[in-house]
Amino acid sequence: MRVLIVEDDSDLCRQVVEALKNTGYAVDQANDGEEGHFLGDTEPYDAVILDLGLPTIDGISILQKWRADGKTFPVLILTARDQWSEKVSGFDAGADDYLTKPFHTEELLARVRALMRRSAGHSTDTIEIGGLTVDTRAARAFVDGVPVKLTSHEFRLLNYMSLHQGRVISRTELVEHIYDQDFDRDSNTIEVFVGRLRKKIGVERIETVRGLGYRLINPEEGKPEQPKLEDKSA
Ligand code: CA
Repeated sequence: MRVLIVEDDSDLCRQVVEALKNTGYAVDQANDGEEGHFLGDTEPYDAVILDLGLPTIDGISILQKWRADGKTFPVLILTARDQWSEKVSGFDAGADDYLTKPFHTEELLARVRALMRRSAGHSTDTIEIGGLTVDTRAARAFVDGVPVKLTSHEFRLLNYMSLHQGRVISRTELVEHIYDQDFDRDSNTIEVFVGRLRKKIGVERIETVRGLGYRLINPEEGKPEQPKLEDKSA
């Protein structure tokens, strides 16, 4: 899962980036409105944390532009204390949630997690797929109740695939959602990660769809009939 934070308070930004990274997300940051708008416009994030008071372009304008351009990623806005009108404008502009400064990092993490799973159509933090349990809150996975040791990249991959279970996901899409922009991206490494993940959670759980990508399936249910093509970049 990959998150963008747009925040000009560098101390706060650093603190949030660190907490998000520790939770196992790939994180990009922008300290001004223009850069923040550009990143959201060009990269596919799973969630965005957007401060409203920003240099160059304010948060509300950025959000309006993204929504006008059809960007559907969930956005949590950070608002100043007691500025209720900011919250209203934020929701009108297309925000999904808000948090008032100052806030506890734990609350921010919980809200971001909830936004990501809701936008993928899940109602709880724990995803069950035929004996495989992915605890997105604790960043842990279990097979038949037995904990599986995963590296942070392996967990990111599993987390993304489990939120989108049953759908064929291209290598390109996986690369875009498990690495941050500074990472030297190579879609060949995805094969390596998938191979390692298969060994750890069971080979039969990740299906290779030739020329298209990978699909996390419930081996007890068998294969879905038709691949759902939602990404043409495979
Ligand atoms: Ca600010």
